[in-house]
Amino acid sequence: MLTEQRSVIINVLKKANRPLTRKEILTKGRAQLPKLGSATVDRAINKLTEAFQLIGLAFPGQATRYELPAEQEHPHFICRVCDKVFDLDIPMRLPKVAFPEGFFVSGGEVVYSGTCPGCHGRVVK
Ligand SMILES: [Zn+2]
Repeated sequence: MLTEQRSVIINVLKKANRPLTRKEILTKGRAQLPKLGSATVDRAINKLTEAFQLIGLAFPGQATRYELPAEQEHPHFICRVCDKVFDLDIPMRLPKVAFPEGFFVSGGEVVYSGTCPGCHGRVVK
């Protein structure tokens, strides 16, 4: 069942078009549904993640971001100035690597970092 809260979260992510932290989802969600509570958002995010309607992205030293399942794998980009994470709409080519014996690889992440268009020219922290 899609509750009002869950559909607000999905709308927020569709509109943002980039992975968002729980805090960003809460702030943007409240703009649509002012009574939206922090605990409700946390619960809804957990439920949506369990149901694979949301994908959690964990990057070292960063708050977990959430995004809607994409049609194809894509690289991510972390802006070192504003800390936003973006989806890059370009094909993801993982390098061909010979993994050590016994390792079965079922996925991979490509993460680039630098400055986003909004922060271009600003100094990296
Ligand atoms: Zn930026």
